[in-house]
Amino acid sequence: MIKIVSLDLWETLIKDDSEKDNEKERDNLRAEFISKTLKLNQSYMQKIHSFFCEVVASFINPEKENEWSLLPETQIDYLINKLGIEVKKEDFDKILKFYTECILDYPPSFTEENIPDILAGLKKKYKLALISNTGRTPGRSLLKLLKNLKIKKYFDFFAFSDELLIRKPDPRIFEIVCSKLNASPEETVHAGDSYKIDFLGAKSAGLNPILYVPGTEKPQGAPYIRTLKEIEEVIEKEYVHRR
Ligand SMILES: [Mg+2]
Repeated sequence: MIKIVSLDLWETLIKDDSEKDNEKERDNLRAEFISKTLKLNQSYMQKIHSFFCEVVASFINPEKENEWSLLPETQIDYLINKLGIEVKKEDFDKILKFYTECILDYPPSFTEENIPDILAGLKKKYKLALISNTGRTPGRSLLKLLKNLKIKKYFDFFAFSDELLIRKPDPRIFEIVCSKLNASPEETVHAGDSYKIDFLGAKSAGLNPILYVPGTEKPQGAPYIRTLKEIEEVIEKEYVHRR
């Protein structure tokens, strides 16, 4: 029996509008804020932007070598080091606040219009968990965002990598979710858009994975869903009746 449905956040429930590319916009604002707060001249801008490229690359391939990107605090430390400057504690705190909360003013949107209804439907049958590898925005800010988007209430447990200090695809993050919600991995489904991070990660911990492949892209694994509306049906077909 499936008791828990765990979901990935970015690109599964929320995404940045590709036309507007909010994250790029947010990074421009972060760069400006950092530069203004530290009174840096224009020559530092290039370094700040190349830092953001490194941050993004580390999120795509979370490895031991890029553990500096696990927390926004350590990301900013890494940047300061790269810039080769001294930063006062009070400026660091100002930057951290802006860096981690700027998403609230420039929020992402849902991947699908009816995400709240889909979650409400799933909630009637399962306990719901959210497992997110956080980036520039930590769990504490994502909870505010989820509240603003009116979907926080559907989840029974949140596993944020910056709070647990473990990132998917590490199986331990999936095991924590199962144990917090008193279910075995076999009783748990995890759905997300990344084949490596969500699908293989969940599988390695013994959970039942479902890959989210919106659009027409060829799925790298199966079972997969094209829309989150299909999730209940796929759980029934693949993980309930097959047993
Ligand atoms: Mg994702």
